[in-house]
Amino acid sequence: MISTSSPETLVREEIRALHAYHVPPPQDWVKLDAMENPYSWPASLEAPLAAALAAAAVNRYPDAEASSLKHAIRRAMKVPDALDIVLGNGSDEIIQIIALALAKPGATVLSVEPAFVMFRMIATFAGMRHVGVPLKADDFALDESAMMAAIDAHQPALTFIAYPNNPTGNLFDRDAIRRIIAAAPGLVVVDEAYFAFSRDSFLDEIAAFPNAVLMRTVSKLGLAGLRLGMLMGAPAWLNEFEKLRLPYNINCFTQAAATLALNHIDAFHAQTESLIRERTRMFAALDALLKPIPGALVWPSEANFLLIRVAHAAELFEALKARRILVKHTGATHPLLQSTLRITIGTPAENKLVLAALAELLKA
Ligand SMILES: *Cc1c(COP(=O)(O)O)cnc(C)c1O
Repeated sequence: MISTSSPETLVREEIRALHAYHVPPPQDWVKLDAMENPYSWPASLEAPLAAALAAAAVNRYPDAEASSLKHAIRRAMKVPDALDIVLGNGSDEIIQIIALALAKPGATVLSVEPAFVMFRMIATFAGMRHVGVPLKADDFALDESAMMAAIDAHQPALTFIAYPNNPTGNLFDRDAIRRIIAAAPGLVVVDEAYFAFSRDSFLDEIAAFPNAVLMRTVSKLGLAGLRLGMLMGAPAWLNEFEKLRLPYNINCFTQAAATLALNHIDAFHAQTESLIRERTRMFAALDALLKPIPGALVWPSEANFLLIRVAHAAELFEALKARRILVKHTGATHPLLQSTLRITIGTPAENKLVLAALAELLKA
């Protein structure tokens, strides 16, 4: 008999139905599964980092406002003065804060599919309904009329649009996004997690929309371990979200290290630039490798990863794993992603390894 005080009876059904977010162990693998920057902290900033961390007042609660850090963000990202900033322990926490704020009974979250999995998961955490609108097959373009129909039918309180999108890597049509924001009865969050790798942004335009905010993170910039995301938007929205932010969510070491990093953003941009060059090179190499194979292809990307379609993606994933190369098997995550793998751009040496392995495995 199940006791009345057990997790089976007390935990909400939709939470029990979830699977915990699975992160594979890193070990000493070629790790190209999680869009991490493969480069470590710049050597020129090692001594300043040690000094900044040593000077952090770890016996005190961190600066609840994180004012030095916000100042550094404003400068490094050229945030327009009209926008306020709310910080999160990763953008995941920001997604959660926004969902909690808007989770009136019966409220709906809308996003495209396939998209970043946390949009759906956090909607569930917050007790909201989630509606996913499939992207167009083949090129993963935004299906504007399907989005408009979903907005009309479900009146979403909250819509997430990642720009560029994960796991497809593309930028959606900018005018279509503008029309979706205009049509949405709720708040639209433009998620620019990959801004450093993309040639376009909504940062200078977001203030023009009364119902849109913009989210970024330093995770894909080489600072995933710090856990720092930022929301930028009109004070009217951000003042409400700030009430839900736990006061000390950005710890003193993260504040010190991220402030230093953003004050020396050029060192990180240099890493990003080299990853963009590698992306161009990898795309060409994968294109040459896959094009002759019927049904196989690589999609263009504005992010730090490439999505490929190959026959037997699951077997290929396992064969790469046997060589200690970890990519993401996206093939089972959505019907539009059938037979796909997502490969994060690594160092030139790592990229060479994965290319060589793919060439050999695909020939066999
Ligand atoms: C990686 C990613 C994030 C997560 O960022 P964190 O700041 O590390 O929580 C957010 N959105 C998208 C689309 C991502 O791919």
